[in-house]
Amino acid sequence: MTTPQWMHDDAVLQPLIDHMKIADAFRFRRTCRAVHDRITDTLYETVARDVVRCRWKRVSNNITGSVRQARTSAMTYSEAKDTIVRSETRTYKSCVPSRDDVIQSLQRKLCRECLRPCNIFAVCVSGRHVVLCPTCWDDETSYSSLCDRITARKQLKGRVKNVERAIRSLHVAKRSRSGGSFLYWRYQVLSLAK
Ligand SMILES: [Zn+2]
Repeated sequence: MTTPQWMHDDAVLQPLIDHMKIADAFRFRRTCRAVHDRITDTLYETVARDVVRCRWKRVSNNITGSVRQARTSAMTYSEAKDTIVRSETRTYKSCVPSRDDVIQSLQRKLCRECLRPCNIFAVCVSGRHVVLCPTCWDDETSYSSLCDRITARKQLKGRVKNVERAIRSLHVAKRSRSGGSFLYWRYQVLSLAK
C-alpha cells in the first residue's frame, strides 16, 4: 500500500500533532512507518520539554537569571526554563534532557496517557494490564477514562432495557481507590448507552 501524500506534508501533519495529547500522538505514530519516521523527533522533543524531569548543568557562579535556592529536580524543562539554582558553592542551570534520556525514560513504567512514572494497573477488555494514573482515568476526555458504577448507572438509565444487567456485562477495569467498588472503561459504558 502506498503512503498517502498528506503524511509527507509537515504543514498538514504538524498542526494535527499539536492538537493531540501526547499519548494520542504516540498512538498515531504506530499507524504506519511513514508517520513514525516523520513525527518521532517532534514527539521526543515534546517529551524532553514537557514530560521528563529537566537536567541541571553546572555553570559559572557569576551567571545571572531567576535564582532558586534549592534544586527543583521534579520540574520539567518547560517549568524550569532559564532557572538557575545555587547551592552553597555551586550554580546550576536547567537544560533540556537529551534524546537518550527521553528514550530511557520511556522504557520505565509510565502511565499510558501522561507518560509519568506510575505503579497502578488497569485491565483492558483483552485482559492486558496497562499502567494508568488516577488523574488520567478521572479525565473524561482521556482515551483511558474510567467511571464508577454510579456514573455508569446514570449513563445507562433510560438507554438500555435492564441497567443492572448491562452493568454486569461491563468489563471491570479495576477496583476503585477506596477498594470496594469497581471502575469500568467509560467507552464501554458509552457504547452501551448509544
Ligand atoms: Zn496519567
